[in-house]
Amino acid sequence: MQVVDIGANLTHAAFKQDLAEVVARAREAGVAQIIVTGSAVDESLAATRVADRFGLHATAGVHPHHARDCGPSTIAALRDIARHARVVAIGECGLDFNRNYSPHPDQEKWFVAQLELGIELGKPLFLHSRDAHPRFSEILQIHRPEKAVAHCFTGEQAELHAYLDLGLHIGITGWICDERRGRHLVELVRHIPRDRLLLETDSPYLTPRDLTPQPKARRNEPAFLPHILRAVARALGRPPEEVAAETTRNAMAFFGLHESGSSAAAQRPLAA
Ligand SMILES: [Zn+2]
Repeated sequence: MQVVDIGANLTHAAFKQDLAEVVARAREAGVAQIIVTGSAVDESLAATRVADRFGLHATAGVHPHHARDCGPSTIAALRDIARHARVVAIGECGLDFNRNYSPHPDQEKWFVAQLELGIELGKPLFLHSRDAHPRFSEILQIHRPEKAVAHCFTGEQAELHAYLDLGLHIGITGWICDERRGRHLVELVRHIPRDRLLLETDSPYLTPRDLTPQPKARRNEPAFLPHILRAVARALGRPPEEVAAETTRNAMAFFGLHESGSSAAAQRPLAA
């Protein structure tokens, strides 16, 4: 049984000491591929290095928390990083009106700029939205990418249906394992079309609350993705093997990965 973790923040300081072990544990657990999330220009560059080192993939983007740090050179820098063969999406980008680390006008400006970049490059978008519906949907209606995923979906039914109407894929994390905050997701995952469901850990964040024993320092890691898969399969009332195969197929198609787990560009032989 194989799964794909479409969102892991492996450049986070929490993985500094033992990243090789973390990746090895993920592979042993059946995580066939990991998309390393880029959340700022330097982090995106670091994500490509992690992807190179371990044969993984990466995204290039600026998280809304860091929108205030963006400037005239940001998009050119992301465009440059996106040329890397292992970069398979633009993001994460979007809106976060929960923490509000960056002013809303900055968040919106750089969200739009990254949507336009993804559209220009023909790359899928890896989107973050927290307490930002309906503004998030309004922007997507105007700057509409061909392929995009609402990563770490935690919203309510109206929000889910708005995203599905926009044609978005939906990323489900261990939030669904939280018997307090994630109960509504157990019912809502059944509304997601089978070919638009994706799985992710969002490591080192969002450690599944029902994981026993809880990991050291409660750090989440990609090896826990099969645990999340089983929770999703239970919610759907379907065999985990089936959901694993389906979500893996979805991730491969969405990011343009091949059976071996590498992207078309990364498989191309290097010029001599
Ligand atoms: Zn996010």
